[in-house]
Amino acid sequence: MITCREVVKSLRPYVPGKPIEEVQKEYNLTNVIKLASNENPLGCSQKAKEAIISSLENVEFYPDGNATKLRKALSKNLDVNENQLIFGAGSDEIITMLAKTFIEKDDEAITCTPTFPQYKSAVTVFGGKIVEVPLVDYTYDLEGIVNAITDKTKIIFISNPNNPTGTIITAEQQLEFIKKVPSNVLIVMDEAYSEYIIEDEYPKTLPLLEKYPNIIILRTFSKAYGLASLRVGYGIANESIIELLNRVRGPFNVTSAAISAATASLEDKGFLTTSIQTNNEVKSFIYKKCKEMDFDFIPTYGNFIMIETEKIGNDLEVFNKLQSKGIIVRPGSFLGLKGWQRVTIGTMEQMEFFFNILKELI
Ligand code: PMP
Repeated sequence: MITCREVVKSLRPYVPGKPIEEVQKEYNLTNVIKLASNENPLGCSQKAKEAIISSLENVEFYPDGNATKLRKALSKNLDVNENQLIFGAGSDEIITMLAKTFIEKDDEAITCTPTFPQYKSAVTVFGGKIVEVPLVDYTYDLEGIVNAITDKTKIIFISNPNNPTGTIITAEQQLEFIKKVPSNVLIVMDEAYSEYIIEDEYPKTLPLLEKYPNIIILRTFSKAYGLASLRVGYGIANESIIELLNRVRGPFNVTSAAISAATASLEDKGFLTTSIQTNNEVKSFIYKKCKEMDFDFIPTYGNFIMIETEKIGNDLEVFNKLQSKGIIVRPGSFLGLKGWQRVTIGTMEQMEFFFNILKELI
């Protein structure tokens, strides 16, 4: 019999939600909306679509392993050196690269819980131990994290805003925290949803890289840029960290279509602005509806929101009922928040439909 590594025995595969087509078939529905994975309800930039089509001309060639055109465009956009950037098949892959590069057996990484589960799985796969500090008021407990640092701590993962709760740590809190973290501990600031945030209190982490070379920022084209299916994300850090990550990176890890689409997306400021505006308008509508209908919710900085639906039933029941009516969300039980649903902020029309169904279910 083929045996796997000991640590793999403790892992469970990621359980994805059902795709739209399957829900349509199962419940005999034509109108099904997916509000489960924090994707962009407006799709992606038209320029990105055109770039994808052009990239098909060269589909027989391996991608540019250096992602040169995307690297150049992004370094200009962010005002960082080209060798301060690393690209991955989604920021997911960069999280894996971080664990692969820095986690030895029995090393520790700290994060809060509940948060994005990929930190835990990446660290665990490489034999490390994840230390999970509970959120306080649905928010990262930075003091708790500092208190959990030991000689074995290698990485601290911070999802800002936090998926699934949508809360942030502010610029002031972040700086105070960074000052307390030893320089041999890598701080991962996962800013997957940062483009959506217009509030001043949200940290500008980039300027901190020079003074604090133990920080890496993660961003993605999956959310506000609407390119989730192409899998492209990036890390920004000091050159020495990027150089180490490049040693474990697969040579052709980001596809040509992804590189082209991401580069074109950066040029389409209009699409990004519309996405951010829509998200903020629809968010206000959701707050209003939740208050009107007396649903508790966690105010959010992302393109998703936690809504408490306990008064309709337990979260798995509510999830199933919503699904049978054509709305796919993510039940809180899958995320460590029983009684709640994580709902992606869709278009106004989609959210009107969502609240109409909720009304029916009450
Ligand atoms: N970080 C956070 C906090 C996320 O919510 C997600 C996606 N759900 C990711 C990283 C990964 O995104 P991607 O791999 O698509 O870039």
